[in-house]
Amino acid sequence: MDGVILRHNHPVNLLDLSYEQLAELLAGWGEPSFRARQVWGWLWRRLADDFEAMSDLPGSLRQRLAEVSRGWTAVPGALQLDADEGTEKALLSFPDGEAVEAVLMREGARRTVCVSTQVGCPVGCAFCATGQGECSRSLSAGEIAAQVLHFARRLAAKEERVTHVVVMGMGEPLLNYAATLRAIRNLNHPQGFALGARRFTVSTVGVVPGMRKLAKEGLELNLAVSLHAPKDELRAELVPAVRRWPIRDVLAAADDYASSTGRRVSYEYVMLAGINDAPVQAHALSGLLRGRLAHVNLIPYNRIAGLPFERPPDERVENFRIILVQRGVDATIRRSRGTRIAAGCGQLRARSAG
Ligand code: SF4
Repeated sequence: MDGVILRHNHPVNLLDLSYEQLAELLAGWGEPSFRARQVWGWLWRRLADDFEAMSDLPGSLRQRLAEVSRGWTAVPGALQLDADEGTEKALLSFPDGEAVEAVLMREGARRTVCVSTQVGCPVGCAFCATGQGECSRSLSAGEIAAQVLHFARRLAAKEERVTHVVVMGMGEPLLNYAATLRAIRNLNHPQGFALGARRFTVSTVGVVPGMRKLAKEGLELNLAVSLHAPKDELRAELVPAVRRWPIRDVLAAADDYASSTGRRVSYEYVMLAGINDAPVQAHALSGLLRGRLAHVNLIPYNRIAGLPFERPPDERVENFRIILVQRGVDATIRRSRGTRIAAGCGQLRARSAG
């Protein structure tokens, strides 16, 4: 990217830059090469949220960075906390006033941040709160990473750190491919945040070209594919934007991903009462997935006001799982976290910060 932006000193979100781009920016200002390591360390390892904190940089450099930098921290707005579960949902806003929700989940020693990649979502899943609104824009790499850094700062105050990142919030990450990958690579960089590639999970509705590209990145990311139906006709009703990628093609791309990365693909299946929860559908799903390096996450639906879907009874969900397991497909039921604060799967919404 952005030789032009860097050369002309246009305002830049420093978190959008790769390490090499940051080094290029600083070298262009005549700074010695070790400065890149220092600034990168402040941004990504020491989690600085203000240039004044960067105490080992000369004042002139801090000032210049402040002059070119635009919105590198996301501004936290409303914070909701589910005290019983330790789940936190934050509304985070960016300089243009757009805002997204991100969620921190605590489970045992795990501290997982669920990030959004777009303001709204162009996929428009019939059962999802996010999908009901407009998608006003995609986030930049820095805006995606800033959500993780926001919670990392909160955790650091308790001497804890983010252990996992799931790219499962608002938006379809593979329709904002470059920014999503840049955010992951930056968070993975060993001299900065240094979160291992296997600690990331990227969730997609099955954007086949993006899945194929991701398989070639040389990163061992976990891939979660949202299937939600064992047949194309029903899937097209629930997830209208994926009509052009039939299940057959999605599974082929997932198989390629599993064989090139060695990572087991997980398949997400939101369970909707009377729609996709019948035993015959469990049999059809097992027929699709048996023999694949796969795991199914069954996600009982989180009710959303105004949408005509219901969560199936627990026994029906368990019965569905048993059919899958008996037919040789690994499956678990995901306990959704944060539903009391509307932070569960499919419940996030974009809101204006203003
Ligand atoms: S479920 Fe995911 S892909 Fe579907 S509309 Fe919601 S955010 Fe978008």
